[in-house]
Amino acid sequence: MNVILLGAPGVGKGTQAKVLERTLGIPQVSTGDMLRAARASGSPLGQRVQAVMDAGGLVSDDIILDLVRERLSREDARGGALFDGFPRTLPQAAALAAVVSVDHVVSLEVPESDIVERIAGRRSCGSCAAPFHVRFSPTSRADGRCDKCGGELVQRADDDEAAVTNRLSVYKAQTAPLIEYYAARNVLRRVDGVGAPAEVTARIRQTMGV
Ligand code: AMP
Repeated sequence: MNVILLGAPGVGKGTQAKVLERTLGIPQVSTGDMLRAARASGSPLGQRVQAVMDAGGLVSDDIILDLVRERLSREDARGGALFDGFPRTLPQAAALAAVVSVDHVVSLEVPESDIVERIAGRRSCGSCAAPFHVRFSPTSRADGRCDKCGGELVQRADDDEAAVTNRLSVYKAQTAPLIEYYAARNVLRRVDGVGAPAEVTARIRQTMGV
């Protein structure tokens, strides 16, 4: 099964993907996580994408498609994948369609006024990448560290206000057209993304029938 989680930055794609990959038994393929890992390793690819990511722009389709093709060639993706943050442009969607058939595209919908608050409070573990939110899903540890592995919780460099504003406008111009693209192919499932993560997960599972 191949599933795409679609939606503006901050709607909860990564949080839902981490739960759903266990439910569905298919790996999360997050191009954002892959790019951040490349940056953390200091690889040439990581250095190339650093400036555009920090400004909230999109990395070129060629680079993204190379990453995704390599990821899909690995053994654990044989039964499908759960795409998070990919595709983000129509050419990426067309390239994906050439290699896999997409069963469900879950469009997570959250009002723009909520998105800014969600992103401002977003944190993730610097060690295990577990997602948190200072208000909506805080760590249970009194010292503020990750309650899964004890790592330090950090804010993403591209979660500052200027980059977020740019990411939202890039989303509207380049990624939102994918909603129509997938609606026309009868695989679009619109899901209300407002509420506790577990409630949103239940809505997604219901719409997918899993
Ligand atoms: P994300 O974690 O999905 O919000 O991605 C973080 C950043 O990585 C984005 O703002 C882009 O700069 C870059 N990125 C991630 N996925 C893609 C993609 N599919 N196409 C282009 N750029 C991407």
